[in-house]
Order: sequence, then structure tokens, then C-alpha cells
Amino acid sequence: MLTVPVRALLSLLLLLTLGGCSMRSARPSPPVADDQGVMREPSAVRRGLVEQASRATSAARTALEATATPDRALATASASVGATRQPTDSTIQRTEPTPTKTVQHAAKVRPRTAPVQKPVTLASARRGIQQTVNRYYEALDAKDVQLFRTTIVPGNPYWRAVQEEQYALWLINYAEGDASARVRNVRPLGRGYYTGKIDLTLAFNRDEYGRATQDWVFRRVDGRWKLAEPTRRELGTLHSMHGTAITLEYYSWDAAQARRVMHLSETAYRTVSSRLAVRSRQRIRVRLLPAYEVSPGQAAGESVGYYRSATPNALFLRSPGSFGFGTYRPYGSPYDELAKTATHELAHLLADRRVPLGSLPDWMTEGLAEWVSGNPRPYEIRRALRADGLYSLAQLAAFERLTGGAGLAYAQSYEIVSYVIQTHGMNGYWRLARAHRDHGTVDRALRAALGVGQPEFEREWRKYLRDKYGTDLGR
Ligand SMILES: [Zn+2]
Repeated sequence: MLTVPVRALLSLLLLLTLGGCSMRSARPSPPVADDQGVMREPSAVRRGLVEQASRATSAARTALEATATPDRALATASASVGATRQPTDSTIQRTEPTPTKTVQHAAKVRPRTAPVQKPVTLASARRGIQQTVNRYYEALDAKDVQLFRTTIVPGNPYWRAVQEEQYALWLINYAEGDASARVRNVRPLGRGYYTGKIDLTLAFNRDEYGRATQDWVFRRVDGRWKLAEPTRRELGTLHSMHGTAITLEYYSWDAAQARRVMHLSETAYRTVSSRLAVRSRQRIRVRLLPAYEVSPGQAAGESVGYYRSATPNALFLRSPGSFGFGTYRPYGSPYDELAKTATHELAHLLADRRVPLGSLPDWMTEGLAEWVSGNPRPYEIRRALRADGLYSLAQLAAFERLTGGAGLAYAQSYEIVSYVIQTHGMNGYWRLARAHRDHGTVDRALRAALGVGQPEFEREWRKYLRDKYGTDLGR
């Protein structure tokens, strides 16, 4: 997965292809078995920056794949992409909170004088949700976990566990006054849920925006609005829709956006397949995850999308509109972000079929996925060049060991792979990847595939970066 801060910039491109799409043949089909139990993955918190593209969600949510080395910047509004590569199943089974039986009124000590609930109007919902969002950030500013908990809906243990974990992440990544949030509008989702579109202003943002948008779900409980997520039962049936190259799996909850996601997934497949010259003989399963309860093993701070070698024909994407989806470009479309993520993850999936991801250093695999999805991060490169803070090739071998920002690691990997492809073509990349698989070291792989040793290669790509960005350094 990846974590790409603000990938936002990107791309309207993919979406604009609304013309003909394989969606025509898309058709809902009978529910498929929910094999959720099989797809466990360590929570991002344990995983490390690696592969995830998380987007920092609200302000400080780290989009990171790895919070092990907390990177405040990433936690920012950066939208990250995440591609997750988990070559081996080192999955740590996460202990899921045990759903407790919800005793409807047992614990409710409702004052007898409780006011009768007034009917919800959009205006009142917006006001109430704004108050809740204010309290959420006030709680972070004051590091007041009790106040924080008052903003979370009761009765959904999965969701509360995720928010507890999220709170811990915020404590690492967030400083007082980092974020301010304004609810732009609200919309009913059914079953008592409302979505609020929230515009964030971020004091610590490292990308060029300083702003981001996120869609959070709320529900009114005892007259107050709380941050919520639908339960497994409320998500409804798991359906599948078959396109040309993709089988989309989605819950009834996401039915309204299924076709759109199918369309962008098909577009992403065509992009990846043609750029990498790899095809899939069978349809690739893309599963939309609208809630944490149906993505076992994943909790706050995790990736926005992931692919694992252990399930080689499937990838997983968080639903636009869910908390886990994180932030997106201010006033932009979350589907632009999703298209990037889908492209990035599909690049991992298809590349894994040519040369196993587990045999390659992170810069090679993440750089390729970023290159395919067209996701440069020039601001990261410029800042590093100014500070003379570029990572070495050796450091980029394993992102989870980096102590600095993962955003820069993705940015540099993009540039290095771009450099290889510009100078040696796509075949040059595959030669290099195969050589690394066969020889096991970057130096030997470079000599065998590209005819240069590592020291020379390192000088060359650094020069390439200076030439490419040098004239912008003054800005
Ligand atoms: Zn990735």
C-alpha cells in the first residue's frame, strides 16, 4: 500500500474516460460468500509504513502505512495511496474486540426530564454535526480522551475500538491547533445515518494544499450527533458485479456507488495492464470495504487500499464516504483518489505475477506502482533537495525501517523507477527486477541488467533529480 500524501493532485485523468466502459456488461449477481475471515492483515499500526497508502485522514490521521515510525507529515492531509504488498503472510492476527451484546436500555440512565427529540432537519443535522466535529478536535487539542469518547457512537464495539486506536495515533501525530474543521453539508444515508462533508484546514500540512476534505458518518443518539459507522448487519448483503476484467464485491450499503467504482477499477486495470504489459486471465476481485467491522485486522491508520500476495487475485479498497477512506483533495472528488489507489494496487497485483514482490526492494515495487498510477510528489522532492535530505538506495530498500517520512520514500521511489524506465524502457525495469530476484542484491542486479554499479547508478539518479527539479528550488 502506499501512503502518498496528497496524491490528490492527481488525477482527474482516469475518471474522465467516462465514455465507453466495460461497465456496460456489469451486472449485479447473487451474493457471494463473505470470506472476510480469510483476509486478515495486521493493523497499520503494527505494520509500518510500508505499503500502505493511507491517507491521512482528518488531519492527523496518518495515512501511513506504518505508524511504527510516525510521520507527522503523512498524518496530515496527505492522501496516501496505499498499496500493500505483503509478500509473506506475516499477518498478525489481530484480536478483534468481542462484540458485546447490546442491551438496549440497560445502561441508559436517562434523566426523566430528557427533552423530547426534535425531528432532524438538514440544517439542524449540520449544526449538530459541526458541534460534534468541534468537540472531536477540541478533545485532541486538549488530549482529553473522555471528551473524545463522547463524540463516538456507543453500541458498536468494533467502531469504538477503532476510534480508541485512532485516538492513540492522534496523540502521536497531532499537536494542538493542527486542524480546524468546517462541515460543508450533510446528507441522509438511511437507517438514521448521515454523512457530513468536512473541510479541514491543516496547520501542519506538508503538501501544497494545507487543506483537505473528508466524509464522515454520523448518527444522532439521545439528541447528540456522534461519529459512527454502520454495523455488519446494516451493511447488508455482499454482492458481486462482473465487468470485463474486474469482479467488484460490495455490500448493499455501497450499492449506489458500485457502478462508479467498477468503472474506475476497469479503467485502472486497462491503464496498468497496458503500461506493464501484463494481463490477467481471470477477473480480478476488487472488494469495497465500507466499515472496519468487515476488514478484520485493520484498524485506524491503516491503508486505504491493499494487495497481498497471499490472495493474488484480489485487492481491497476502502469505500469513499467511510472513515477509513481518509481525506481527499479539497473540493475534489474522492473517486479521483480511489482511482489512484486502485491503479497503484493493481500495479502491485499484476507486477507480482511477473516478478514476485517479495524478492524486490521497496523502492522497486512502490516506485513502479507510483509510476503506473502517475503519482509524483514534487513537493517532497523539492524539500528534500533543499535540505540535502534524500534517502539513499539502501535506505529505500525497506520503508518500514525509515525514521523519516514515508512520503519522501514514495516520492523518491517514483523518481528512481521513472529514471530507469526513461533510460532503459519498461523492459529495463523488468530486467532489473528479474536480476534482483536472481542475484539478490541491488548492485549485482544493476550490473547484470543495466550495466552500471550501484555507486554510479546512485550518482546518476541524483543528478537526474537535480536537473529535473533544480530550477524550481528557489520557489
Ligand atoms: Zn504500494
